[in-house]
Amino acid sequence: MDLGIRGRRALVCAASKGLGRGCAEALAAEGVDLVINARGEDALHDTAKDLSDRFGISVTPVAADITTPDGQAAVLKAAGDIDILVTNAGGPPPGHWRDWSRDDFIKALDANLLSAVALMQATVPHMIEQGWGRVVNITSAAVRSPIAVLGLSNTARTGLTGFVAGMSRDVAKHGVVVNNLLPGIHDTDRADSLDTGVAKAEGISFDEARARRKSGIPVGDYGRASDFGAACAFLCSEHSRFIIGQNITLDGGALNATL
Ligand code: NAP
Repeated sequence: MDLGIRGRRALVCAASKGLGRGCAEALAAEGVDLVINARGEDALHDTAKDLSDRFGISVTPVAADITTPDGQAAVLKAAGDIDILVTNAGGPPPGHWRDWSRDDFIKALDANLLSAVALMQATVPHMIEQGWGRVVNITSAAVRSPIAVLGLSNTARTGLTGFVAGMSRDVAKHGVVVNNLLPGIHDTDRADSLDTGVAKAEGISFDEARARRKSGIPVGDYGRASDFGAACAFLCSEHSRFIIGQNITLDGGALNATL
Protein backbone atom coordinates (compact mmCIF):
# COMPACT_ATOMS: atom_id res chain seq x y z
CA MET A 1 0.00 0.00 0.00
CA ASP A 2 1.32 3.44 -0.90
CA LEU A 3 0.92 5.55 2.22
CA GLY A 4 0.78 8.71 0.09
CA ILE A 5 3.22 10.75 2.18
CA ARG A 6 6.33 10.80 -0.03
CA GLY A 7 7.95 14.26 0.17
CA ARG A 8 6.19 15.17 3.42
CA ARG A 9 8.30 16.51 6.30
CA ALA A 10 8.20 14.96 9.78
CA LEU A 11 9.65 15.72 13.20
CA VAL A 12 10.25 12.54 15.22
CA CYS A 13 11.34 13.17 18.82
CA ALA A 14 13.56 10.88 20.92
CA ALA A 15 14.41 8.92 17.78
CA SER A 16 18.05 7.79 17.88
CA LYS A 17 16.99 4.39 19.27
CA GLY A 18 14.00 2.28 20.19
CA LEU A 19 10.42 3.09 19.28
CA GLY A 20 11.15 6.63 18.10
CA ARG A 21 13.76 5.27 15.73
CA GLY A 22 11.29 2.61 14.56
CA CYS A 23 8.84 5.39 13.65
CA ALA A 24 11.54 7.47 11.93
CA GLU A 25 12.66 4.45 9.91
CA ALA A 26 9.14 3.54 8.77
CA LEU A 27 8.50 7.14 7.69
CA ALA A 28 11.88 7.27 5.91
CA ALA A 29 10.95 4.10 4.00
CA GLU A 30 7.86 5.99 2.75
CA GLY A 31 10.02 8.84 1.43
CA VAL A 32 9.34 11.31 4.25
CA ASP A 33 12.08 13.87 5.02
CA LEU A 34 12.96 13.91 8.69
CA VAL A 35 14.07 16.01 11.59
CA ILE A 36 15.08 13.64 14.39
CA ASN A 37 16.05 14.34 17.96
CA ALA A 38 17.74 12.76 20.98
CA ARG A 39 20.14 14.01 23.67
CA GLY A 40 23.20 11.89 22.81
CA GLU A 41 24.90 13.16 19.64
CA ASP A 42 26.75 10.00 18.56
CA ALA A 43 23.78 7.63 18.28
CA LEU A 44 21.65 10.44 16.81
CA HIS A 45 24.15 11.20 14.04
CA ASP A 46 24.64 7.48 13.30
CA THR A 47 20.87 7.05 12.95
CA ALA A 48 20.56 10.14 10.74
CA LYS A 49 23.32 8.91 8.43
CA ASP A 50 21.94 5.38 8.28
CA LEU A 51 18.42 6.57 7.37
CA SER A 52 19.55 9.09 4.75
CA ASP A 53 21.97 6.54 3.19
CA ARG A 54 19.39 3.75 3.05
CA PHE A 55 16.30 5.71 2.02
CA GLY A 56 17.72 8.73 0.13
CA ILE A 57 15.74 11.22 2.19
CA SER A 58 16.95 14.31 4.02
CA VAL A 59 17.53 13.87 7.76
CA THR A 60 18.34 16.75 10.11
CA PRO A 61 19.54 15.61 13.55
CA VAL A 62 19.05 17.97 16.51
CA ALA A 63 20.72 16.96 19.78
CA ALA A 64 18.60 18.37 22.63
CA ASP A 65 16.60 17.38 25.68
CA ILE A 66 13.03 17.47 24.35
CA THR A 67 11.59 17.69 27.87
CA THR A 68 12.95 21.24 28.39
CA PRO A 69 11.67 24.50 26.85
CA ASP A 70 15.17 25.23 25.47
CA GLY A 71 15.40 21.78 23.89
CA GLN A 72 11.96 22.14 22.35
CA ALA A 73 12.85 25.59 20.97
CA ALA A 74 16.04 24.25 19.33
CA VAL A 75 14.21 21.31 17.75
CA LEU A 76 11.29 23.45 16.55
CA LYS A 77 13.66 26.03 15.03
CA ALA A 78 15.43 23.34 13.00
CA ALA A 79 12.16 21.68 12.04
CA GLY A 80 10.33 24.76 10.72
CA ASP A 81 6.94 23.98 9.20
CA ILE A 82 6.24 20.25 9.38
CA ASP A 83 3.44 18.01 8.11
CA ILE A 84 3.91 15.18 10.62
CA LEU A 85 4.81 15.22 14.33
CA VAL A 86 5.72 12.16 16.40
CA THR A 87 6.14 13.05 20.07
CA ASN A 88 8.24 10.86 22.34
CA ALA A 89 10.61 11.08 25.32
CA GLY A 90 12.17 8.66 27.77
CA GLY A 91 9.88 7.10 30.39
CA PRO A 92 10.15 7.88 34.12
CA PRO A 93 11.97 5.51 36.50
CA PRO A 94 10.06 2.87 38.47
CA GLY A 95 9.40 3.41 42.17
CA HIS A 96 6.77 3.39 44.90
CA TRP A 97 3.79 5.75 45.21
CA ARG A 98 4.78 6.67 48.80
CA ASP A 99 8.19 7.97 47.72
CA TRP A 100 7.49 10.24 44.75
CA SER A 101 8.11 13.92 45.48
CA ARG A 102 6.61 16.96 43.80
CA ASP A 103 9.83 17.29 41.77
CA ASP A 104 9.51 13.69 40.55
CA PHE A 105 5.97 14.44 39.34
CA ILE A 106 7.03 17.69 37.66
CA LYS A 107 9.81 15.86 35.79
CA ALA A 108 7.41 13.15 34.63
CA LEU A 109 4.80 15.71 33.60
CA ASP A 110 7.41 17.68 31.64
CA ALA A 111 8.62 14.54 29.87
CA ASN A 112 5.43 12.64 29.16
CA LEU A 113 2.70 15.30 29.05
CA LEU A 114 3.83 18.92 28.75
CA SER A 115 6.54 18.43 26.11
CA ALA A 116 4.05 16.70 23.79
CA VAL A 117 1.48 19.44 24.42
CA ALA A 118 4.04 22.20 23.72
CA LEU A 119 5.16 20.54 20.47
CA MET A 120 1.56 20.16 19.30
CA GLN A 121 0.78 23.78 20.20
CA ALA A 122 3.80 24.90 18.16
CA THR A 123 3.27 22.77 15.05
CA VAL A 124 -0.45 22.08 14.64
CA PRO A 125 -1.42 25.69 13.73
CA HIS A 126 0.60 25.36 10.49
CA MET A 127 -1.02 21.97 9.79
CA ILE A 128 -4.45 23.59 10.25
CA GLU A 129 -3.49 26.43 7.91
CA GLN A 130 -2.44 24.03 5.15
CA GLY A 131 -5.43 21.74 5.76
CA TRP A 132 -3.35 18.59 6.37
CA GLY A 133 -1.38 17.24 9.29
CA ARG A 134 -0.69 14.12 11.30
CA VAL A 135 0.35 13.74 14.96
CA VAL A 136 1.20 10.51 16.74
CA ASN A 137 2.02 10.60 20.45
CA ILE A 138 3.99 7.65 21.79
CA THR A 139 2.45 6.97 25.22
CA SER A 140 2.10 3.60 26.97
CA ALA A 141 -0.22 0.64 27.45
CA ALA A 142 -0.07 1.73 31.12
CA VAL A 143 -2.73 4.29 30.20
CA ARG A 144 -5.22 1.43 29.84
CA SER A 145 -3.76 -1.02 32.31
CA PRO A 146 -1.77 0.64 35.10
CA ILE A 147 1.66 -0.61 36.18
CA ALA A 148 1.99 0.29 39.87
CA VAL A 149 5.77 0.80 39.88
CA LEU A 150 5.44 3.12 36.88
CA GLY A 151 2.92 5.39 38.60
CA LEU A 152 4.73 8.52 37.38
CA SER A 153 4.19 7.29 33.83
CA ASN A 154 0.55 6.26 34.50
CA THR A 155 -0.18 9.75 35.83
CA ALA A 156 1.53 11.88 33.18
CA ARG A 157 0.41 9.85 30.17
CA THR A 158 -3.20 9.69 31.29
CA GLY A 159 -3.12 13.50 31.34
CA LEU A 160 -1.86 13.52 27.74
CA THR A 161 -4.62 11.10 26.77
CA GLY A 162 -7.21 13.52 28.18
CA PHE A 163 -5.68 16.48 26.33
CA VAL A 164 -5.63 14.61 23.01
CA ALA A 165 -9.22 13.40 23.43
CA GLY A 166 -10.51 16.96 23.22
CA MET A 167 -7.88 18.60 21.02
CA SER A 168 -7.95 15.91 18.31
CA ARG A 169 -11.68 16.44 17.80
CA ASP A 170 -11.23 20.19 17.62
CA VAL A 171 -8.65 20.03 14.80
CA ALA A 172 -10.16 17.12 12.81
CA LYS A 173 -12.23 19.43 10.57
CA HIS A 174 -8.98 20.98 9.30
CA GLY A 175 -7.58 17.70 8.00
CA VAL A 176 -5.35 17.25 11.06
CA VAL A 177 -5.37 13.73 12.50
CA VAL A 178 -4.09 13.27 16.07
CA ASN A 179 -3.82 9.86 17.77
CA ASN A 180 -1.90 8.07 20.51
CA LEU A 181 0.03 4.83 20.11
CA LEU A 182 0.24 2.80 23.33
CA PRO A 183 3.20 0.40 23.41
CA GLY A 184 3.15 -2.69 25.54
CA ILE A 185 6.53 -4.30 25.99
CA HIS A 186 8.88 -3.86 23.01
CA ASP A 187 12.44 -5.05 22.69
CA THR A 188 14.36 -1.80 23.29
CA ASP A 189 16.82 -0.41 25.83
CA ARG A 190 13.82 0.63 27.95
CA ALA A 191 12.63 -2.99 28.13
CA ASP A 192 16.16 -4.09 29.09
CA SER A 193 16.23 -1.61 31.93
CA LEU A 194 12.74 -2.60 33.16
CA ASP A 195 13.68 -6.31 33.06
CA THR A 196 16.96 -5.59 34.85
CA GLY A 197 14.94 -3.84 37.58
CA VAL A 198 12.55 -6.80 37.94
CA ALA A 199 15.46 -9.29 38.04
CA LYS A 200 17.13 -7.29 40.80
CA ALA A 201 13.95 -6.76 42.84
CA GLU A 202 12.94 -10.42 42.66
CA GLY A 203 16.37 -12.06 42.86
CA ILE A 204 16.03 -13.80 39.50
CA SER A 205 18.13 -13.66 36.34
CA PHE A 206 17.49 -11.20 33.52
CA ASP A 207 16.52 -14.13 31.26
CA GLU A 208 14.03 -15.41 33.84
CA ALA A 209 12.49 -11.95 34.20
CA ARG A 210 12.12 -11.75 30.43
CA ALA A 211 10.67 -15.27 30.10
CA ARG A 212 8.17 -14.50 32.85
CA ARG A 213 7.04 -11.33 31.11
CA LYS A 214 6.80 -13.08 27.73
CA SER A 215 4.58 -15.77 29.23
CA GLY A 216 1.93 -13.10 29.88
CA ILE A 217 1.83 -11.99 26.22
CA PRO A 218 -0.45 -13.97 23.86
CA VAL A 219 2.02 -13.46 20.99
CA GLY A 220 4.70 -15.02 23.24
CA ASP A 221 7.25 -12.39 22.32
CA TYR A 222 8.18 -8.75 22.76
CA GLY A 223 7.19 -6.28 20.07
CA ARG A 224 9.81 -4.94 17.69
CA ALA A 225 10.51 -1.29 16.99
CA SER A 226 9.74 -2.06 13.33
CA ASP A 227 6.23 -3.35 14.24
CA PHE A 228 5.63 -0.15 16.13
CA GLY A 229 7.04 2.04 13.37
CA ALA A 230 4.78 0.47 10.73
CA ALA A 231 1.68 1.27 12.80
CA CYS A 232 2.93 4.81 13.33
CA ALA A 233 3.56 5.33 9.60
CA PHE A 234 0.02 4.18 8.82
CA LEU A 235 -1.41 6.70 11.32
CA CYS A 236 0.71 9.36 9.58
CA SER A 237 -0.54 8.35 6.14
CA GLU A 238 -3.24 9.62 3.79
CA HIS A 239 -5.35 6.65 4.85
CA SER A 240 -5.79 7.66 8.49
CA ARG A 241 -8.10 10.64 7.89
CA PHE A 242 -11.08 9.03 9.67
CA ILE A 243 -9.10 7.79 12.72
CA ILE A 244 -9.44 10.61 15.24
CA GLY A 245 -8.36 10.79 18.89
CA GLN A 246 -7.81 7.05 19.24
CA ASN A 247 -5.59 5.20 21.70
CA ILE A 248 -4.22 2.21 19.85
CA THR A 249 -2.62 -0.44 22.02
CA LEU A 250 0.28 -2.43 20.53
CA ASP A 251 0.90 -5.09 23.17
CA GLY A 252 0.71 -8.52 21.56
CA GLY A 253 -2.67 -9.04 23.27
CA ALA A 254 -1.27 -8.61 26.79
CA LEU A 255 -4.24 -6.55 28.00
CA ASN A 256 -6.95 -9.17 28.53
CA ALA A 257 -10.04 -7.17 27.67
CA THR A 258 -12.97 -7.51 25.27
CA LEU A 259 -12.88 -3.82 24.26
P1 NAP B 1 14.53 3.72 24.61
O1 NAP B 1 14.86 2.47 23.89
O2 NAP B 1 15.10 3.95 25.95
O3 NAP B 1 14.87 4.92 23.59
C1 NAP B 1 14.76 6.15 24.02
C2 NAP B 1 15.14 7.12 22.88
O4 NAP B 1 14.69 8.37 23.33
C3 NAP B 1 16.64 7.24 22.66
O5 NAP B 1 16.86 7.63 21.33
C4 NAP B 1 17.01 8.36 23.62
O6 NAP B 1 18.22 8.99 23.25
C5 NAP B 1 15.80 9.27 23.45
N1 NAP B 1 15.50 10.12 24.59
C6 NAP B 1 15.29 9.71 25.87
N2 NAP B 1 15.05 10.79 26.65
C7 NAP B 1 15.10 11.88 25.83
C8 NAP B 1 14.96 13.28 26.04
N3 NAP B 1 14.70 13.77 27.25
N4 NAP B 1 15.07 14.11 24.98
C9 NAP B 1 15.33 13.62 23.75
N5 NAP B 1 15.49 12.31 23.50
C10 NAP B 1 15.39 11.45 24.53
O7 NAP B 1 12.94 3.84 24.86
P2 NAP B 1 11.76 3.16 24.03
O8 NAP B 1 11.60 1.77 24.48
O9 NAP B 1 11.96 3.47 22.61
O10 NAP B 1 10.50 3.94 24.61
C11 NAP B 1 9.99 5.12 24.05
C12 NAP B 1 8.85 5.60 24.95
O11 NAP B 1 7.84 4.59 25.03
C13 NAP B 1 9.31 5.86 26.38
O12 NAP B 1 8.59 6.94 26.92
C14 NAP B 1 8.91 4.58 27.10
O13 NAP B 1 8.70 4.77 28.47
C15 NAP B 1 7.62 4.25 26.38
N6 NAP B 1 7.30 2.81 26.50
C16 NAP B 1 8.16 1.88 26.07
C17 NAP B 1 7.83 0.54 26.18
C18 NAP B 1 8.78 -0.55 25.75
O14 NAP B 1 8.52 -1.71 26.04
N7 NAP B 1 9.85 -0.26 25.07
C19 NAP B 1 6.60 0.17 26.74
C20 NAP B 1 5.72 1.17 27.16
C21 NAP B 1 6.08 2.50 27.03
P3 NAP B 1 19.12 9.78 24.34
O15 NAP B 1 19.15 8.94 25.57
O16 NAP B 1 20.43 9.95 23.67
O17 NAP B 1 18.41 11.08 24.56
